[in-house]
Amino acid sequence: MSRYSIFNLVGNALSGHKNWKEAWRSPEPKPSYDIVIVGGGGHGLATAYYLAKEHGLTNIAVIEKGWIGGGNMGRNTTIVRSNYMLPENTHFYEWGMKLWETMSQDLNYNVMFSQRGVINLAHTPGQMDAFARRGNAMRLAGVDAELLDRDEIARRCPGLDMSPNARFPIVGGMCQPRGGTARHDAVAWGYARGADLRGVDIIENCEVTGFKIDGGKVVGVETSRGDILAKKVGVAVAGHTSQVMQMAGIERLPIESHLLQAFVSEPVKPLIDTVVTFGAGHLYISQSNKGGLVFGGDMDGYNSFAQRGNIPVIEDVASCAMTMFPNLGKIRLLRHWGGIMDMSMDGTPIISKTPVENLFLNGGWCYGGFKATPASGWCFAHTIATGEPHELNAGFTLDRFEKGYTIDEKGVGPVPRLH
Ligand SMILES: Cc1cc2nc3c(=O)[nH]c(=O)nc-3n(C[C@H](O)[C@H](O)[C@H](O)COP(=O)(O)OP(=O)(O)OC[C@H]3O[C@@H](n4cnc5c(N)ncnc54)[C@H](O)[C@@H]3O)c2cc1C
Repeated sequence: MSRYSIFNLVGNALSGHKNWKEAWRSPEPKPSYDIVIVGGGGHGLATAYYLAKEHGLTNIAVIEKGWIGGGNMGRNTTIVRSNYMLPENTHFYEWGMKLWETMSQDLNYNVMFSQRGVINLAHTPGQMDAFARRGNAMRLAGVDAELLDRDEIARRCPGLDMSPNARFPIVGGMCQPRGGTARHDAVAWGYARGADLRGVDIIENCEVTGFKIDGGKVVGVETSRGDILAKKVGVAVAGHTSQVMQMAGIERLPIESHLLQAFVSEPVKPLIDTVVTFGAGHLYISQSNKGGLVFGGDMDGYNSFAQRGNIPVIEDVASCAMTMFPNLGKIRLLRHWGGIMDMSMDGTPIISKTPVENLFLNGGWCYGGFKATPASGWCFAHTIATGEPHELNAGFTLDRFEKGYTIDEKGVGPVPRLH
C-alpha cells in the first residue's frame, strides 16, 4: 500500500480517483492468532497498531461486532486535553498529548488535530482557586496551563454572556492551550490502516460471544463467525465491558454503563475558535470545521445500554448553551446521538491484567476516552506484549478498588469538576 502524499493525490486525481486502494483489507478470520483484540474502537485499533509498531507483533486480529469506529469512537465530541492533577493521570494523558501532536505524521493519515485550546470557565473565587491549584500542578509536571481573568475570557470568547447579572457570572477560567479537537473517524481509520499495513487482520461484523478458557487461562474466543484460538486476548469494548467480561466469568466489575449524548447544530460562520466548558452546569462546546456547533452535556443518571438520545437532556443542554451563549437562541440543532460510557467508580481507567491468565482489560474510560486513545493503545500494547503494565499505567489496575488504591480525580469528565 502506498503512502498518502501530494504525488499520490495528484496521480489519483489524474486517473479520476478510480485507483485508490482500500485503506484496510477485509480478511476472513484465521483459526488462530498470537493476540486477539476484542473491540474495534479507537482503543482496540490503537492497541493493535502499537503492538505491531512498537513490539513487532503482527499475528493479531481485531474483532469488531459492527464496523470499526461505530461505537463511542465515532460518537464523541472529540475533545483532547491533558489537564489532570493527580500524577497517574497527568503523566498518562500528557504522554497521550505528545502522541496526538505527532499522530498525523506517524500514521500518514490526517486526523485533523487542532490545538485550539480548551477553556474551563470559573464562576466563583473558589473555583478560580481550584483552577490555580490544578494549573500549578500541571505546570510542575511540565503540562501547559494558563489562568485567565475575566477580561481575557471576554476577549477570547466574544459570544459569552459576561454580564455581572448572568445566572452564573463568569469570573475567569483556565486554559490548556495545547488542548483541542481531532477528527474522531479519521483517528479510527488511521490506526486501522496503520495496523493493517503491518499485517494485523481487522475483522468487522464479527461478535465475540464467549471466551475459551482452559485451566484459568484464556486460549481463544468464540465468535459469530466461529472459534478463534489466541495466546493472549485484550478486551477494549468500552460501554460493553461488563457484558463482555461476564462471558469470561468475571462477574462483578467496578464499572457501570451510562448513556452520554452529543449534539451538532446547523453550520454557521466562525463563532467559537476554542473549546469552552461551562463549570457551573455541565456543558461543553466547540465548532467543527464544517461550522456546526458541537455540544455535549451531562450523562443520564441511570444505567443503560441504549445508544440513542432522549428529550430531557436536549432541554438541559439547550438551556445551558443559552445561559453561556445567549446569541445561540435561534440556532437549529441538526443531529443528536448517544453512546454508552463505561464509568469506573473512581473515574480513572483500567488497563490491566485480569484474574484470567493472558486475558487483559482496557476499560473504565468514562467521558474521557477519546483523548486517551493513543496513550491507552500504547500502554495496553505494552501490557499485553510484556505481560506487565508500563509505569504510565501501573496505577490503572483492576484490583485497586479492593486494595483501596483508587485514583479519584474529579476531573475526568469533559468539565474538570471542582466539587
Ligand atoms: C456523546 C459522547 C461524547 C464524548 N466526548 C468525549 C470527548 O469530548 N473527549 C473524550 O476524550 N472522550 C469523549 N467521549 C468518550 C470516548 O468516546 C470513549 O471513552 C472512547 O471512545 C472509548 O474507547 P473506544 O473508542 O475504544 O470505544 P468504542 O468506539 O465504543 O469501541 C468499543 C467497540 O467494541 C465493540 N464491541 C462491543 N462488544 C463487542 C463484542 N462482544 N464483540 C466484538 N466487538 C464488540 C463495539 O461495537 C465498539 O465498536 C465521549 C463519548 C460519548 C458517547
